[in-house]
Amino acid sequence: MSQVWNFSAGPAALPREVLERAQRELLDWDGSGMSVMEQSHRGKRFIAMAARAEADLRELAAIPDDYAVLFLQGGATQHFAQIPMNLAGEGGSADYIVNGHWGAKAASEAAPYVKVHVAADSKADDYRRLPPRGEWKLDPHAAYVHYTPNETIHGVEHHEVPDVGEVPLVADMSSDILSAPLDVRRFGLIYAGAQKNIGPSGLVLMIVRRDLLARTTRPMAKIFRYAEHAANDSMLNTPNTWGWYLAGLTFQWLKAQGGLAAMGERNRVKAERLYAAIDGSGGYYRNAVDPAARSRMNVPFTLHDAALDASFLAESEAAGLFALKGHKALGGMRASLYNAVPPEAVDALVAFMRDFATRHG
Ligand SMILES: *Cc1c(COP(=O)(O)O)cnc(C)c1O
Repeated sequence: MSQVWNFSAGPAALPREVLERAQRELLDWDGSGMSVMEQSHRGKRFIAMAARAEADLRELAAIPDDYAVLFLQGGATQHFAQIPMNLAGEGGSADYIVNGHWGAKAASEAAPYVKVHVAADSKADDYRRLPPRGEWKLDPHAAYVHYTPNETIHGVEHHEVPDVGEVPLVADMSSDILSAPLDVRRFGLIYAGAQKNIGPSGLVLMIVRRDLLARTTRPMAKIFRYAEHAANDSMLNTPNTWGWYLAGLTFQWLKAQGGLAAMGERNRVKAERLYAAIDGSGGYYRNAVDPAARSRMNVPFTLHDAALDASFLAESEAAGLFALKGHKALGGMRASLYNAVPPEAVDALVAFMRDFATRHG
C-alpha cells in the first residue's frame, strides 16, 4: 500500500518513527533477545525504561517534583469514576463544566461517588461554543472542578486554562495532552487515555499534585487508590508494559521534534490550514463551532449536501485519506489532527477537498 494519512479520532495515528523503532526492536529489545512485552516489569531493563519515560515526560512538560506521574489502565472512562473516589470525601461535592460528550459522561460516571454539581453546560447550544466563564456557577467548597479542555467529538477547545481559584482543577486531556506547552501548576490532576496523542489504548497517563493523593479516607481496594499506585511507581500490579514502552518512545520523539512549543506551533498551523480551507469554500464545507472555541485537534465539518457524504468518504479513502467519517452523534466528517498527523497530511486533505468540490460542483 502506498502512503496513507490517518485522521482517526482514536485510537489514532502514531508517529511513523516510533512505529519503525518499535518494529526494529520488536524481537530483540534492549539487547535482551526478547520483546519488551515478554519480560518482567520488575526486571532492571523495564524499570530503567519506565524511569526514562517518566523523566522524559517530566522534562517535556516541565512537571514539578510535587506532582506524581502515574501510568495507569482502565481508559479515561474508568477514571471518570475513580477520580471522585480519590479526590472527594464521603458526602463531598464536585463542580463539572460540561462542554461536550465526554464532559457529560465524566459527570454521569462520577455521580455514584460524589455530589455532581454541573456548574456550566453548553448543551443548549449543541456544544458549539464554550459556556462563557462569567456564567460558571462555581462552588468554593467543591472538592475539585472537572473540565474537558478539548472535546473530541464536538471539536470545541478551551484555548486558555480557566482560573478556578483555590479549588483543584481536574482536566481530561485525552485528546489534547502534549499538543502544546502545558502549565502543570495550574492543575490539581491531569489525565489522558493514551490512544490519541501518546500511544496505544489501554494506558492512562496521570499527572497529579501529591497532596491530593492523601485526601480520601473512604474505604476502597488498593487498586483504586491513586496513592497506592504512586507509592508503588505505577507497579502495584502488572502495568501495560507495551503501552508504557510506546509512550516512552513517543516522548523521545516529541523531544526530537523540539518539544511541546514546537508541537504547539505545528498543530496551530495545521488546524489553521484546514479551517481556512473550510471557511474559504464558499459554503461547500462548513464547521459550525464558534470560531473562538474551535479545536486544533478535532475538526468536524459537513458538506453542503449530505447526499455527497458517501462519495466524499469513498473518494477520500481511494486517495489515501483515512477515517474521515464523523462521529455518529454529529454525522458529516471529522479530521483529527493529533501530534502524529504531519502537516503533509493536512495539505493532502485540503487539496483533496478542493478537488472534490470542483468535481462535484
Ligand atoms: C477518547 C476520549 C475518552 C474515552 O477514553 P477511553 O480511554 O476510551 O475511556 C474520554 N475523554 C476524552 C476527551 C476522549 O477524547
